[in-house]
Amino acid sequence: MAQEDVFKKIVAHCKEYGFVFPSSDIYDGLAAVYDYGQNGVELKNNIKQYWWQSMVLLHDNIVGIDSAIFMHPTIWKASGHVDAFNDPLIDNRDSKKRYRADVLIEDEIAKYDEKIDKEVAKAAKRFKENFDEAKYRATSPRVIELQEKRDALHARYSAAMNAMDLNELRQIILDEEIVCPISGTRNWTEVRQFNLMFSTEMGSTADGAMKVYLRPETAQGIFVNYLNVQKTGRMKVPFGIAQIGKAFRNEIVARQFIFRMREFEQMEMQFFVRPGTEMEWFSKWKETRMKWHQVLGFGADHYRFHDHEKLAHYANAATDVEFLMPFGFKEVEGIHSRTNFDLSQHEKYSGKSIKYFDPETNESYTPYVIETSIGVDRMFLSVMCAAYTEEQLENGETRVVLKLPAALAPVKLAVLPLVKKDGLPEKAREIVNDLKFHFNTIYDEKDSIGKRYRRQDAVGTPYCVTVDHDTLNDNCVTLRNRDTMQQERVAISDLNGIIADRVSITSLLKKLQ
Ligand code: ATP
Repeated sequence: MAQEDVFKKIVAHCKEYGFVFPSSDIYDGLAAVYDYGQNGVELKNNIKQYWWQSMVLLHDNIVGIDSAIFMHPTIWKASGHVDAFNDPLIDNRDSKKRYRADVLIEDEIAKYDEKIDKEVAKAAKRFKENFDEAKYRATSPRVIELQEKRDALHARYSAAMNAMDLNELRQIILDEEIVCPISGTRNWTEVRQFNLMFSTEMGSTADGAMKVYLRPETAQGIFVNYLNVQKTGRMKVPFGIAQIGKAFRNEIVARQFIFRMREFEQMEMQFFVRPGTEMEWFSKWKETRMKWHQVLGFGADHYRFHDHEKLAHYANAATDVEFLMPFGFKEVEGIHSRTNFDLSQHEKYSGKSIKYFDPETNESYTPYVIETSIGVDRMFLSVMCAAYTEEQLENGETRVVLKLPAALAPVKLAVLPLVKKDGLPEKAREIVNDLKFHFNTIYDEKDSIGKRYRRQDAVGTPYCVTVDHDTLNDNCVTLRNRDTMQQERVAISDLNGIIADRVSITSLLKKLQ
């Protein structure tokens, strides 16, 4: 099946099974805004819990905060967002569609990469086991030609982005003959800067309203609270502050479902370190974060780092953790070495000293910061994409199953009476009432047992138990495993012991140690 079709199926599945709905659905939706349904909210909360606990529980030098979305507007001046949080946009006059100029060019660069990979794959097929890929890449005239064109385009693009030369970005689009995917024409407008922050007014106009912004990242709430937390928590550098919260960006091109939203959620951790030690911490956090992802068990081949060549003005190292989505490797998390830029800026703009006195070195300094920043919604999407599976069964039917890590699954156990009579529903309810205190357990009596299993497979429930007539005598149930579909007979009194450990967030956290 084409990857595009797989993605469409995942989006449809998210809606059909109560994971994600378009916002304001009965009014035909609101672009790039989504709501989480009854199953989505559970999965999302589990992801957040896994992240929060891995930060705050497992590190005695990391604490959390929850700062407000509204902040003093000068914060966004100090952070550079008022002047520099811009994307270069371009419109196609025929389709009236708006694009990010940088994304159009990056897609063009990716096309060269794809062409090169295709040439290599063709040659690998031709030469079979005698194929030497490195040699082929270095000697094939076609590959060399494509590589040179790609590198030249990349160099020109990087220079234009670094200088934010809008005319040059437009010229690249014209020279590369990039067409609008909708109209197919090259009738482009000028490239303009577009600020991504939403703004609103605080206070009544009579009092003189103040323009405030909806935060475009949660990080600044951490920076401006850094000294409050350091002092009241008596934290010693190195230490970290973690936060989960909403962020808002007026994205120009909202595409790919919950990958790029206008209202989304971030999980950010700022780690404050002694100047000069930041590179060491940067590589430590790269390793720690990659492990956090890989413990979910989707396979190491689903992840890669993408180191940034173009660094933000404040950063001295940056990398993305990319995940293999159906539409290619995409950023899920950013890890940045932000120097002391943010804290120094807030010191300058607020006029208050926020220096740290280091009792070990007897020096005062502005700490350097390593940031790990991950989007909850993108993480959610990556988990959904990796978990969505269509299996061909022996009887010719297709089974749709979400192979979610058990600890993230919205429902852990479904208790199903075989029939709706003979005291089986009562017995099943007894089991639910006992186990619901330990993990998310539901009761379902509607439809045939086969249909009920399928329904649980589709939302990723790792375990189902069936209560049958024998249960009333032997106090045993049939426990069915989602992935293997194998069934075993177990005592009701053993259920908690068998299931609780495997479905708890703790089971993931232990693998991180
Ligand atoms: P992109 O290049 O995709 O726009 P970014 O580099 O601007 O992302 P950061 O500012 O580093 O992203 O934000 C950190 C994380 O927040 C990202 O890795 C991503 O997971 C998430 N994120 C950023 N923008 C959005 C968005 N519009 N919708 C959903 N998640 C987002």
